[in-house]
Amino acid sequence: MVDQDALHQALVGALGAAGVLEGDDIGPAYFEDISHERSGRPWLVLRPSSTAEVAQCLRLCHRYGQAVVPQGGMTGLVSAGVPIDGEVALSTQRLARIEEVDASNATITAQAGVTLQQVQEAADAAGYFFPLDIGSRGSCTVGGNLSTNAGGNRVLRYGMMRDLVLGLEVVLADGTVIDGTHKMVKNNAGYDLKHLFIGAEGTLGVITRAVLRLHPKPMSQAVAFCSLPDFGTGIRLLRYLEGALGGRLSAFEAIWHNAYQLVLDGVPRVRPPLPSKNPFYVLVESLGADPLHDGEQFEQVLHQALAQGLVQDVVVGRSEREVRALWEVRDAVSEAVLKLDPFLSFDVSMPVDCMEPFARDVIERIGARWPEARIGVFGHVGDGNLHLVTDAGGHATPRAVMDELVYDATRAVRGSVSAEHGIGFQKRGWLRYTRSDEEIALMRLLKRSLDPKGILSPGRVVDMV
Ligand code: ZN
Repeated sequence: MVDQDALHQALVGALGAAGVLEGDDIGPAYFEDISHERSGRPWLVLRPSSTAEVAQCLRLCHRYGQAVVPQGGMTGLVSAGVPIDGEVALSTQRLARIEEVDASNATITAQAGVTLQQVQEAADAAGYFFPLDIGSRGSCTVGGNLSTNAGGNRVLRYGMMRDLVLGLEVVLADGTVIDGTHKMVKNNAGYDLKHLFIGAEGTLGVITRAVLRLHPKPMSQAVAFCSLPDFGTGIRLLRYLEGALGGRLSAFEAIWHNAYQLVLDGVPRVRPPLPSKNPFYVLVESLGADPLHDGEQFEQVLHQALAQGLVQDVVVGRSEREVRALWEVRDAVSEAVLKLDPFLSFDVSMPVDCMEPFARDVIERIGARWPEARIGVFGHVGDGNLHLVTDAGGHATPRAVMDELVYDATRAVRGSVSAEHGIGFQKRGWLRYTRSDEEIALMRLLKRSLDPKGILSPGRVVDMV
């Protein structure tokens, strides 16, 4: 048993009273993430304001064998940051400083609790672009984005969070500080340790600071919304645009007819840019450096696509307002699906040419079992990432039944049960559908090596038995 009194006293001594929340001062924001699938009350919430304080917290918790769950903006979808009753939550909310924007090296150094939007705005103010973008930008944090290896709409061009990091500072379970805040693009001096912690969902260490990579600010943005006769044509369109736009293609977001219909039914403020009679819709975006000619060239490329039968119909955004309206259709998908009740959502990935047969298979299986089920399928096709949501026809279907149906189909195409949301608690039981026994054994070996007492986010990602 943890000697709670002694640990409590030591933590208050290390952080001061303002650094430790307890009892009724711990609000529900610390209990659950936005999936609302699990809820737990932490015994204490630790709010360190420096790396040294994080190290102190972990040193003490390690000594006393106290389990700790790191928390960022709590916008996760797999309950990785949700406390088990009695755990201590370690919040990064007071690690909220952007320490440097380095124009020469095109980097930004930020503490873990800085929000994604603050990073984007600081980059913009310095004449740069930080391309990672997800709906929760105003509340999700750098530490959380790194711990989940966040993706979003522009991965096709700029990669995931992992591709946008040059260096990390991490505190290990026993309080050891690993300062890897390098600014080099090339660093092959031994193992690339930062990648151990990216996507580890807080199970291997607590990320406290990051050196992030900035990109040149795009000078032009062109967007089109297309309807397609079938998915195979969509893949040909994707490959055609990658070549014809000379590397400027930045988003290729597919919306299946069923998800488009959910938007038309559920989000009345969105005016459909194209009638709802086609099997697939795609939002295409190009970001470039030549505002005078990029728009014109974009339209020419899409006319060519039309002439070659790669799209059935196309609407091009010709003003900032029109561009925003087209993106709003894509964003409204995420809003429309939330109205499904119950709300069962999946985030899977697979080879691009498997996406359509996979979706058809799952839609058929769900329809056979729950004929009145509503389903929406959409995704980042350039990355092979599908989101599938359903209400199981309004039945209170046990999550595990639907999980098995979807993950069986995912395994059949050698896909991944988590494309960009992570594993956390929610998908832990399905990890072996994507990872081999040997891979899982290696994950456990890493976990035991870095956190021998198992105090960091126990039970998340990979179970240890
Ligand atoms: Zn997504």
